[in-house]
Amino acid sequence: MSYEPELQVLNPATEEVVATVPAATAADVDAAVVRATKAQAAWAALAPGDRARLLRRFATAVDEHLEELARLEVREAGHTVGNARWEAGNVRDLLDYAAGGVERLTGRQIPVPGGLDITILEPLGVVGVIAPWNFPMPIAAWGTAPALAAGNAVILKPAETTPLTALRLAELALEAGLPEGLFQVLPGHGHIAGRALVDHPDVAKIVFTGSTRTGREVMERGARLVKPVTLELGGKSPNIVFADADLKTAVDPFSFLDNSGQDCCARTRILVQESVYDEVRELLADALSAVVVGDPADEKTQMGPLISRQQLDRVRSFVPDDAPALRGSAPAGPGFWFAPTVLTGERHDSEAAREEIFGPVAVLLPFTDEADAIRLANDTPYGLSGSIWTRDVGRALRVSRAVRAGNLSVNSHSSVRYWTPFGGYKQSGVGRELGPDALAAFTETKNVFISTEGPAQ
Ligand code: NDP
Repeated sequence: MSYEPELQVLNPATEEVVATVPAATAADVDAAVVRATKAQAAWAALAPGDRARLLRRFATAVDEHLEELARLEVREAGHTVGNARWEAGNVRDLLDYAAGGVERLTGRQIPVPGGLDITILEPLGVVGVIAPWNFPMPIAAWGTAPALAAGNAVILKPAETTPLTALRLAELALEAGLPEGLFQVLPGHGHIAGRALVDHPDVAKIVFTGSTRTGREVMERGARLVKPVTLELGGKSPNIVFADADLKTAVDPFSFLDNSGQDCCARTRILVQESVYDEVRELLADALSAVVVGDPADEKTQMGPLISRQQLDRVRSFVPDDAPALRGSAPAGPGFWFAPTVLTGERHDSEAAREEIFGPVAVLLPFTDEADAIRLANDTPYGLSGSIWTRDVGRALRVSRAVRAGNLSVNSHSSVRYWTPFGGYKQSGVGRELGPDALAAFTETKNVFISTEGPAQ
């Protein structure tokens, strides 16, 4: 298979070309690793306070360009402008939070006889971050900010459809005073630039977010070099709604429509206790018809287009025109539009109920009791997130313990905060990002024993 030497970035709302960007080759990756290795040695030798200060300056630069970054994300990814502002702000916050960890990245002193035992957390070296197109800025920063704070250099490969905000972030890093070569962005094809990063012996770790299929390949190839990986992969998360819940809030359609459903945490399996199934169906029908889908640059828009023609075709393949469903509306004409949809005639083992669709599509499924809800929630190869809606505290806790997923919310649809850990069970991933331990994931622990016995007489 041959690949274009340039990436064409399209506006998903209009299909117009926004920019063309050269695609990195394997040789470009090699050269970037040489630059990064040099920059990392100097960066790790800086006083912690100086590293922290430079990261805070980078955060300030992002804040000062927040609107510009957000508008760029609207054009390259079709995100609503409100979401895009939040995303740029999230990068700022991640950098600030990571900067606060630099001087707190401490080892331990462990009691031993005959001496002193200490652990030292050392940077890994050069870290490769492979980011997807669904949240180009935040997900790039989830890996980049703590890796830099822990003393590493970072080479970021953005998705080929969304390289522009990543490139702008790299410029801002330089303007803020980060050393040349420390944070490099290499747009390129996954099978060329992404693979070259994974295969490179001097890239110490890969942080990958994307599909479970590609994540599996990254893990397999990384294993040849015994390379550590953090993987954030797919999801098919349940929204478990018990009959005693506040139903209107529980079935908020933005639990699966946010970012046009291109969200690994989207609650795309709406599991509803059968006694309130009809009521929930009505609520959803009303809510879907009220969703404002359209120009993402318009402040009033609630949902924009899908990222690409390829993604639109994929989503369509799960939703035949005659499938029983509740449907909202979407613009016609150019752009990759798909109307908000809830499939109502699926079995829990059907393709649409099991596969990650990654579009504005959920399935509505009834359950009988608590045990049935837990069984259905866990009957998936994924385990990323989920919501539990009930006024019964005991049940909320029992179900939270029983559902095998990394990020649950009770009477809420929230999942991701930069200061709490995030990651998946089962085939949703390996490792955790964010939270208080984020920096430690980019270090090796060295144990040193120092004898207090004098030299033998
Ligand atoms: P991928 O997992 O293929 O892409 C994610 C990133 O990995 C991109 O930067 C991509 O580059 C890169 N990549 C692709 N192949 C390789 C490789 N062999 N080695 C190293 N890096 C590689 O996702 P897709 O864009 O193909 O999306 C397909 C589906 O994946 C979606 O429909 C959705 O279900 C799921 N997905 C899940 C995400 C999540 O957040 N969990 C995010 C994105 C997708 P390039 O852009 O050049 O392909």
